[in-house]
Amino acid sequence: MRIVVLAGGIGGARFLRGLKAAAPDADITVIGNTGDDIHLFGLKVCPDLDTVMYTLGGGIHEEQGWGRTDETFVVKEELAAYGVGPEWFGLGDRDFATHIVRTQMIGAGYPLSAVTEALCARWQPGVRLIPMTDDRVETHVVVDAPDDGGRKAVHFQEYWVRLHASVPAHAVLPVGADQAKPAPGVLEAIGEADVILFPPSNPVVSIGTILAVPGIREAIAEAGVPVVGLSPIVGDAPVRGMADKVLAAVGVEATAAAVAEHYGSGLLDGWLVDTVDAAAVPEVESAGIRCRAVPLLMTDVDATAQMARAALDLAREVAA
Ligand code: GDP
Ligand code: CA
Repeated sequence: MRIVVLAGGIGGARFLRGLKAAAPDADITVIGNTGDDIHLFGLKVCPDLDTVMYTLGGGIHEEQGWGRTDETFVVKEELAAYGVGPEWFGLGDRDFATHIVRTQMIGAGYPLSAVTEALCARWQPGVRLIPMTDDRVETHVVVDAPDDGGRKAVHFQEYWVRLHASVPAHAVLPVGADQAKPAPGVLEAIGEADVILFPPSNPVVSIGTILAVPGIREAIAEAGVPVVGLSPIVGDAPVRGMADKVLAAVGVEATAAAVAEHYGSGLLDGWLVDTVDAAAVPEVESAGIRCRAVPLLMTDVDATAQMARAALDLAREVAA
């Protein structure tokens, strides 16, 4: 079975670990979000690709959900001693090595997709990880600029990591997406898939950004295979993170049903909501999307594998 998964960082990576356990023989291609990518200290940092790679490769800091396990921060301290920031983005020593290798390869002319493949040769994530595009796309968030009474766009990482999403987000802009081309292998994987899954990743700044690359949304809609998603919203709130804030910025309520309708029946065939949101099932189904309520908390790999099985079951059901 060939499965294509669109993935952000933590939500995508943890789901993939369960999916691998649930479908050990499946051929899984992950299309990763690169809208969170940022240049820091002259290095190209790809937080979502790295979270997937470290999580599936056994190098992730488990509790934190991002960054490396057994991490130290000597380089960051030394940079700070020179007064060189930003100090708000925590790059550890082990993590730095990944960004140095990536930046060096990009400088030598390799596209991000080839670099990602090379990094994965070390981590052996057990899936094929492809960035959504080799082109530069940066998600920006429009926030108030109190100093001049207007508004300004800040990089997504600044909104999230420095400002902790504590200021109102007025709009989310995937800058550069309209000019971007899907990376080599993305459209082919979608075209050859037996099932396409949207893990409980952020619907706006993770999956929304991937879908903003021209050609990807269309390819999924036209693939003619079941497309099933899992809600990142449980009990009217994100399980973690700021999905509610960025959903508000695009005019979508933070409910499991509203997220399904935001994707729409043109894209989604099936949608899983948590059992606490079982009352949302009729609303989703009346929007033309088959819906089931099952436990959706990724508390451990077994619970997550159960979610993945439910998604694959629903895919079979909508295909029948
Ligand atoms: P990020 O790039 O690291 O923010 O990660 P993703 O975009 O892949 O996933 C973030 C989303 O995962 C958030 O909106 C969370 O609500 C969701 N999430 C995290 N843990 C869980 C969980 O255990 N269950 C569900 N249903 N969603 C989760
Ligand atoms: Ca992310």
